[in-house]
Amino acid sequence: MRGMRCDACGYVFFPPQNLGCEQCGTTGSALRPCQLVGSGTLMARVTVHLHAKPERPAPFVIGTVRLDDGPVVRMLLDAPPDTLPPIGSPMVAVLSPVASEEGSRVHDLRFSLAQPAPLQE
Ligand SMILES: [Zn+2]
Repeated sequence: MRGMRCDACGYVFFPPQNLGCEQCGTTGSALRPCQLVGSGTLMARVTVHLHAKPERPAPFVIGTVRLDDGPVVRMLLDAPPDTLPPIGSPMVAVLSPVASEEGSRVHDLRFSLAQPAPLQE
């Protein structure tokens, strides 16, 4: 995942934009793209049962995740609506194949439950 770091105050935010630092308002070359680890902790989640856009069939799950790098993002979860991951779960960013409005196949950035590391022997 790509975010932005403000050299003036050290704040890291997502998604990248050049309108100014979300914390101190600094603009210009002080805002630099940075790599985010794409992992974090689930803070909240909700199942959406009714949505205006037919290309986003409900139900689906939206989650709020605090990235390990600091920014808080709200994004679709790659989780079935009837088995919501517990608050505090470790999450990772994944690319999920979805159909675009034009019918072609694209990838959507989502968050999924992190798999526990395999046991070391
Ligand atoms: Zn700043």
